[in-house]
Amino acid sequence: MAACRRLSGASAREVLGPARGLLFDCDGVLWTGERAVPGAPELLERLSRSGKATFFVSNNSRRSVSELQQRFSRLGFRGVRAEQVFSSALCSALYLRQRLLGAGDDACPGPGRVFVLGGEGLRGELREAGLRLAGEGGPAGGKDEPPVRAVLVGYDDQFTFAKLSEACGYLRDPQCLLVATDPDPWHLLSDGQCTPGTGSLMAAVETASGRKAVVVGKPNTYMFDCIVERFGVDPSSTLMVGDRLETDILFGKNCGLATVLTLTGVSRLEEAQAYMASESPAAKDLVPNYYVDSIADLIAGLDE
Ligand SMILES: [Mg+2]
Repeated sequence: MAACRRLSGASAREVLGPARGLLFDCDGVLWTGERAVPGAPELLERLSRSGKATFFVSNNSRRSVSELQQRFSRLGFRGVRAEQVFSSALCSALYLRQRLLGAGDDACPGPGRVFVLGGEGLRGELREAGLRLAGEGGPAGGKDEPPVRAVLVGYDDQFTFAKLSEACGYLRDPQCLLVATDPDPWHLLSDGQCTPGTGSLMAAVETASGRKAVVVGKPNTYMFDCIVERFGVDPSSTLMVGDRLETDILFGKNCGLATVLTLTGVSRLEEAQAYMASESPAAKDLVPNYYVDSIADLIAGLDE
């Protein structure tokens, strides 16, 4: 059972030594707002020099992979390659490509367009994956337009009643998929305020349509499945590092990874301890194996 043990010095070496790879969430772990967590760029450089594989799994669907890559370098993280980044925007595009364009799949509803609640970063990833988007290319309702086969709910700061209503219109067709990039209910802003997340919009679409969304992002395992497929990562020697118990830590648990909670973001140590004290088996899945005050504490676990 996960014990929420603090990592520092010898215990960090004990855990990091045998690890061959680490997955990191981004917001609240590597950076908060426009500031890198002190020591985080150094940790990534040291991990890379130690030959440990690093991947980034972000539920944030606002940015495309190339925008995320620019953010890494702007905040002082050097040498991060696009192939290490698995955002919920990218993975939603991979999922929809598989479901809508996958050959020989009986469950595949056939080629069709995607109605997107989300911004340009998300739309760009979908276009890049070869998907056609509703409202783009050709006159609306033209007879050559394929039907809308999926509604994708992402982070949409231009969400309106009209968009909700349009989404529900497509979802009346039981063949039309309902997919959400992530279930995050809200996000912490750098001034301490909160902003609604995709999960809030997903709840609105689910309620209005009476449908249940397939969630691509954490805590579901699809992002890890994508990493395993491309890089053959072994879960038993991989750590998941995140700041949110309900998504990052549960994701690690669902994927069979040892988990590390970092206290620079959303979740507090007291919440993890409350889950640990709870009698509920579901609560136990939210208890991390380890915690650190900041991921800079992991540097002590590396040789040099
Ligand atoms: Mg986070």
